[in-house]
Amino acid sequence: MSLRDHLLRRIRAAGPMTVADWMHDCLVHPEWGYYVRRDPLGRDFTTAPEISQVFGELLGLALAQAWLDQGAPAPVTLAEPGPGRGTLMADALRATARVPGFHDALRLHLVEASPALRAEQAKRLGDHDPTWHDTVDALPDGPLLLVANEFLDALPVRQWRRAGDGWSEVLVTEREGALAFAAGPPALVPELDRFDVPDGTVVERCPALPGVVAAIARRVAEGGAAIFVDYGHWRSRGDTLQAVRAGAAVDPLADPGEADLTAHVDFEAVALAAGGVPGLRVSGMERQGVLLERLGATARVQALARGRDAAAVEALAAAHRRLLHPSEMGDLFKALALVPAGAPLPPGFGD
Ligand code: SAH
Repeated sequence: MSLRDHLLRRIRAAGPMTVADWMHDCLVHPEWGYYVRRDPLGRDFTTAPEISQVFGELLGLALAQAWLDQGAPAPVTLAEPGPGRGTLMADALRATARVPGFHDALRLHLVEASPALRAEQAKRLGDHDPTWHDTVDALPDGPLLLVANEFLDALPVRQWRRAGDGWSEVLVTEREGALAFAAGPPALVPELDRFDVPDGTVVERCPALPGVVAAIARRVAEGGAAIFVDYGHWRSRGDTLQAVRAGAAVDPLADPGEADLTAHVDFEAVALAAGGVPGLRVSGMERQGVLLERLGATARVQALARGRDAAAVEALAAAHRRLLHPSEMGDLFKALALVPAGAPLPPGFGD
């Protein structure tokens, strides 16, 4: 049996599925899920930490600064959900090795659905004795330093299309033996009322996001900081569901489990979920390029370039441009930080 057969069988038995249920099976089904079966990084897509070591170094140092600002609580959980190959965390740990007391205080926890990627993470981070979890709920209680890059965009979204006074949910169904999108019946969806959009416009909600963010926020309220980086907007709208295979956009329904599926992150939804947790301070949303510049990306790249040959300098400059330039990842990717109420925000962030 294939994932397509499984999905078709489920639709025949239980009716059309939400985009979120379909996306969840495609990404993390225990047998056929995209992430479960392979390490997609480099093959299908690349991410900021894979482009430059500077990304993980600067975010690691920002978390260490937040820890120092709060009186260096020990022990402290250092966690990353969706660590990919472990590159960001390896860069963060190397950069913070000389922060007095930091490595002695931290306990490394990783949240990862993919056995293939857990194996990669063990290779790079094994010296720090990580503990793996299936969900963020399983992270230890108490002070938490957390960084998540391109994790929230992998959480499944539901989609609704504006139809008159109400909405019609986008569903995944079967048509002539193939998977197809279909329009669900008209419905009133009060939680979407804050979206004032013309008829026909799609809006997306990520049902898992409030719980994930609240679980992190509750721990940060006791100490520490969380930094989320992802591509998205404030109150994002429109159909942002994207399937990528071998670096190219593909039909999301064509080969279930064979392509990466993501949707833009609505940072307003992140802020709302975190804002519901008492004792928490939520930063404003910042563009990745501006954040990295404030954290010293250019100075760090210049330092790395010193004494290197022309080709190496060229590669460093290209990576810097890719992460920071507004026409590349600099504007599309955004960041948001959480700290306990009364604590300073991590460097680079503002209200
Ligand atoms: N942060 C890394 C990898 C991003 S890819 C980087 O920047 O390079 C998304 C990561 O999230 C992968 O590690 C993937 O296996 C993991 N992931 C996706 N959905 C998940 C889920 N529901 N639970 C846990 N991990 C998940």
